[in-house]
Amino acid sequence: MSRELYAKGLDRGPANFAVQSPIQFIERAATAYPNKVAVIHGELTRSWSQTYQRCKMLASALQKLGIQRSETVAVMLPNTPPMVEAHFGIAMAGAVLCALNTRQDARALAYMLEHSEAKVLIVDQEFAAVIAAALLILKEKNAELPIVIEVDDPLYVGPRQRLGKIDYEAFLESENAQFSIMWPEDEWDPICLNYTSGTTGNPKGVVYSHRGAYTNGISNALEWGMQRHPIYLWVLPMFHCNGWCFPWTVAAMAGVNVCLRRIEAQPIFDAIRNHQVTHYCGAPIVQNMLINAPQSMKLGIHHRVQTMVGGAAPPAAMIEGMEKMGFEILHAYGLTEVYGPVLISVQQDEWAGLSLEARAELNSRQGICKQLEQAVAVLDPESMQPVPADGETIGEIMIRGNVVMRGYLKNPEATAAALKGGWFHSGDLAVVYPDGYMKIKDRSKDIIISGGENISSIEVEDALYRHPAVLAAAVVAKPDERWGETPCAFIELKPGAAATGDDIIAHCRGLLAGFKVPKTIIFQELPKTATGKIQKFELRNHFQHSAPR
Ligand code: ADP
Repeated sequence: MSRELYAKGLDRGPANFAVQSPIQFIERAATAYPNKVAVIHGELTRSWSQTYQRCKMLASALQKLGIQRSETVAVMLPNTPPMVEAHFGIAMAGAVLCALNTRQDARALAYMLEHSEAKVLIVDQEFAAVIAAALLILKEKNAELPIVIEVDDPLYVGPRQRLGKIDYEAFLESENAQFSIMWPEDEWDPICLNYTSGTTGNPKGVVYSHRGAYTNGISNALEWGMQRHPIYLWVLPMFHCNGWCFPWTVAAMAGVNVCLRRIEAQPIFDAIRNHQVTHYCGAPIVQNMLINAPQSMKLGIHHRVQTMVGGAAPPAAMIEGMEKMGFEILHAYGLTEVYGPVLISVQQDEWAGLSLEARAELNSRQGICKQLEQAVAVLDPESMQPVPADGETIGEIMIRGNVVMRGYLKNPEATAAALKGGWFHSGDLAVVYPDGYMKIKDRSKDIIISGGENISSIEVEDALYRHPAVLAAAVVAKPDERWGETPCAFIELKPGAAATGDDIIAHCRGLLAGFKVPKTIIFQELPKTATGKIQKFELRNHFQHSAPR
């Protein structure tokens, strides 16, 4: 019987089965390429050997503080070397990294510190004031306070405030670089905790495993066709889904982490030019900022630059703009619960012959399942059956495989609901084209229903971005007595550009069916999250008397 043929004497054991953890990536980079540059920050450079040693010193110091396996170590850091080190050193101590979103307010931070039961908190001086306020909230509640470790980055310019007695560099200084790594006992052990922004209710803590982080670290490199030793610029915050797992990818490829404190056009172009950056990731709004930056900033960049855009829908006009600038763009879709990107708009050779506009249109689709995820499908959430691949029928994007969160910390109900039926439910509504590519129409809560017709806010925004005066646009539902809802456009104009509401409406009429044309246009600066996502819930608050959606 063939089933018995392989049943005996072929067992799993330490010789042929090991836990998968991204700690392996840095161990290997330090062994194979000890002298290659791992980190650049201003004038500072460190090799993989030095970085590996510093991570072990961090682990050793945390252990001395009494950190136990599976306890939380929170960090409030910009994209600086300690943030890279946190992605390995904390895991080496067997602990769990909780990278806090640096744009959060004191109340939200206090919630996250308490909910995660953080024992240690590593803070950059830039965020000392907001952390002091968060700690005060915890103190007033008699909640347990984390031990604070301060990072005083020489590149930080701004007010400083002492929070505690431990300085990060001193903390590492006398530590043991021979530290024996606390490898996970099981690859399902937690490695990171990431709070989603929680636009309604409390934020949810998404838990990642060593296995998921390992898998996604490799998947990123495969999907991007990365060569060894990429030069990766940290534009995307590392607190956002652990920078889509790129700290681990860069280690796996023995690349260079070019650190960056400020997400502004000038330092980004300078870093690309001076360090010959090969790769970076960024939200559409950041890419837009680069497209619209003065030409003089972009001079002297002649090498190949690859960029991954995701985190919000990139308007086709933005993809065109990137191509014109000469950067190679790869569009990805994802969310915190699936460790960042999961759909990739894989580019086909045949597209190369198309017009720039047609190519941008194809690239603006969110794409197909990435290499190391098992499956992504657009399902009817009631029947859990796939929608027809007709480019029209809307369903919900669902994901399953090795790169899906373990669940939400201390929230079994939300976890069960999110993973119901053996799929992770994304809450994003999409269609599937005959070639299998998916396109997002909206987040379930963002879709506008006018006179019974669905209007994709993304489609209307796409049309708005085609207007030459528009820098950023967001469309939300405005309650309407007759139609139920109508599309309302909030618009931020490019500096020095002018347009009236009527101009914008006339422009949209040329591109959209009548019922999709915004009825109201409001010019204002758009509220954005740390990751460059426009905060539509704040815009909806504009309609004070509207029922909450
Ligand atoms: P949140 O914004 O809830 O904190 P995430 O940062 O994980 O959480 O954002 C994930 C959401 O961002 C997705 O559910 C989706 O709505 C949107 N998104 C991400 N990438 C894309 C993309 N390429 N195109 C359209 N929408 C995207």
